[in-house]
Amino acid sequence: GGAARDRLRIAIQKSGRLSDPARSLLASCGLSWRESRDKLFCYGETLPVDLLLVRDDDIPGLLADGVCDYGIVGRNVLDEVGADRALRGQPQVSKAVRSLGFGGCRLDIAIPESQAWTGPAQLQGNRIATSYPGLLQQWLDANGVQATIVTLSGSVEIAPRLGQADVICDLVSSGATLTANQLKPAVTLMTSEAVLAGPVTPFADARGELAALLLRRLDGVLRLRDSRLVMFQSRRDGVDALLKLLPDAEAPTLLQVDGSDRVALQVLCHGAMTWPRLEALKQAGAVGLMVLPVERMLA
Ligand code: ATP
Ligand code: MG
Repeated sequence: GGAARDRLRIAIQKSGRLSDPARSLLASCGLSWRESRDKLFCYGETLPVDLLLVRDDDIPGLLADGVCDYGIVGRNVLDEVGADRALRGQPQVSKAVRSLGFGGCRLDIAIPESQAWTGPAQLQGNRIATSYPGLLQQWLDANGVQATIVTLSGSVEIAPRLGQADVICDLVSSGATLTANQLKPAVTLMTSEAVLAGPVTPFADARGELAALLLRRLDGVLRLRDSRLVMFQSRRDGVDALLKLLPDAEAPTLLQVDGSDRVALQVLCHGAMTWPRLEALKQAGAVGLMVLPVERMLA
């Protein structure tokens, strides 16, 4: 939506769990900004891509209104707005275009530690405190449960102790907050991570090309995250067995080692190269193992 523009605007969280990783992800895509003094708007320098620093809850609305073109937000926040729109019979205006691999958490129903969990039916008639009424309502409907949703914008976990609710539906990562409030996770409604949210229809102006450029770079960065160049030598007849241990590898380069039956291999691997994996390679005949970081990649 909105008028034609030739700069791209990305909304990110101003301060919170997603702020730093979102900023550094965009920076690793080659973006940089001239800081404005109030730091609500950062003017893009290397590319015409500006940042808007906002509360994460505002990001879906800014996208819907066409004020921003993309946003980095938890899937939970995006899907909550989506669930709300769906319950009202309104069309979706934005969608997750990439999963970003940080900000991982779950949306769980948590019950008092003293209770046993027997299934969704036990929530019948309960009061459930949550900041995610849309997602909760969808789940309750899908499970044929009637319950009263108590919508709170924060401090959901103390609602049962205050007698405001029987159980809660809240974001959980380590579970420490639940334990501290004598609650335990009972069932997971969704797993979440930060996503790049964008429009459902492509841009008709100069933003289209910018968006394509940004997504190309982002894909390179995301692919690179866990990518390592693994180098080693082995006997030629041991190569097949070694490559079987590297199922996440791309097109290996094989070089004959002069005057021997050995080959040198270079393999780009996309999974974490842990010690056990290296030890398994060594066991299978790899010598001179080396794992190198990949600085940049352009597919
Ligand atoms: P804002 O001031 O921007 O509204 P906030 O308090 O709503 O901030 P944060 O607590 O920073 O937001 O969380 C932002 C996002 O981080 C969440 O929407 C969720 O996607 C993700 N997240 C990851 N782990 C957790 C967790 N344990 N609790 C809450 N959010 C988490
Ligand atoms: Mg928020």
